[in-house]
Amino acid sequence: MTGEPRHVPLRRCVGCGKQRPQAELIRLAALPSDGIVVDRERRFGGRGAYLCSGANCVKRALARGSIPRALRQPGSGTAWAERILDAGT
Ligand SMILES: [Zn+2]
Repeated sequence: MTGEPRHVPLRRCVGCGKQRPQAELIRLAALPSDGIVVDRERRFGGRGAYLCSGANCVKRALARGSIPRALRQPGSGTAWAERILDAGT
């Protein structure tokens, strides 16, 4: 018997739009000083956006500009995406 799993918080990936357990997603946060950063340790509070770790979702989010929109950080560049893609290879 496995029973009901404990309640797992779900978040929506801004790349593919699928909901996944928060722990499987990469969190991105918007910092006043640094713009969009990868919040792997979930240290930063405030507004967050979530992405699957796969390059496809990262690229899709990049192409659509979903992250700056979700974080209300227009024009903050793509360093965050490079950081994810570099780490994922
Ligand atoms: Zn995704």
